[in-house]
Amino acid sequence: MFQSTIARESSAEGVGLHTGVYGHVRLTPAPADTGIVFRRVDLDNFAIEAQGKNVARVSYATSLMKQGVLLSTTEHLLAAIYSCGIDNIYIDIDSIEIPILDGSAEPFMAMLEQAGFRRLRRKRRYLQVLKPLEVTEGDRRIGIYPAEEFHVCCYVDFPHPQVGQQQVELTVSPDSFRNFLARARTFCFERDIEPLRAMGLIRGGSLDNAIVLTSDGLMNGPLRFADEFGRHKALDLIGDLALVGLPLLARVEAHKAGHSLHTQLVSKLLADPSLWTITTKSHPEPAAQDAHQPSSDVHREAGIASAAD
Ligand SMILES: [Zn+2]
Repeated sequence: MFQSTIARESSAEGVGLHTGVYGHVRLTPAPADTGIVFRRVDLDNFAIEAQGKNVARVSYATSLMKQGVLLSTTEHLLAAIYSCGIDNIYIDIDSIEIPILDGSAEPFMAMLEQAGFRRLRRKRRYLQVLKPLEVTEGDRRIGIYPAEEFHVCCYVDFPHPQVGQQQVELTVSPDSFRNFLARARTFCFERDIEPLRAMGLIRGGSLDNAIVLTSDGLMNGPLRFADEFGRHKALDLIGDLALVGLPLLARVEAHKAGHSLHTQLVSKLLADPSLWTITTKSHPEPAAQDAHQPSSDVHREAGIASAAD
């Protein structure tokens, strides 16, 4: 398996969910061993690597900060790039926040499809997890475990008639991400809107970029999937795991987790090199892959997906 980048530039623009600042984002090819690097083109191309060491405050979105330069809401774009197996890319941005677009990762997938895929002549390096690591906060928890592929399992439970308990499980690949997760949108509860605005958040939020849940229904239905909330949380999880900085060979289980637990897991994992090794070993041989049938959850998801489309 070789490293990759994109074949050509691709752009999008829009408002940031939390700051409300309008920005332009451009994806640019990068050489081998660059990794995923944001560049603030409004600040002399100041580079902020998409790595755990640059995680800043994390609340309703994941923000990176390096030498006082901030970049917010990286998770949806990173989820698309990471799931597509793009190892090296520059993300040029002229504002403090990645545009929210429609609240999902689908517009970013469209950008990547337009940008194309280019294989590089350097071997790909994976971070292979050797020992389990768990982080717990009350009834929320997240764990990472040894596995031969990158697999995520995400459980959410919101006491709301449209949400309830949802579990999404999949082996992450460009196809599984595109088909099951990319279109799932950000959501928020109507009762949280005023408190969030009072905190200076969701200044760019609108019914065009987030599902809003009222006390017993939806302000702006229909949903794209019956379990769109669980799917979006899995998307967020993958976007935060991208901050490991290398493709993962691991299984990650998130139980009522969020950006804070996701990024704590990344930081604790990277801080303890006895938990992992870096390998150029590729994905399992085809014979081994046959043994990893998609889980029954994914089959069930597929049924729901086609019903909701
Ligand atoms: Zn999100």
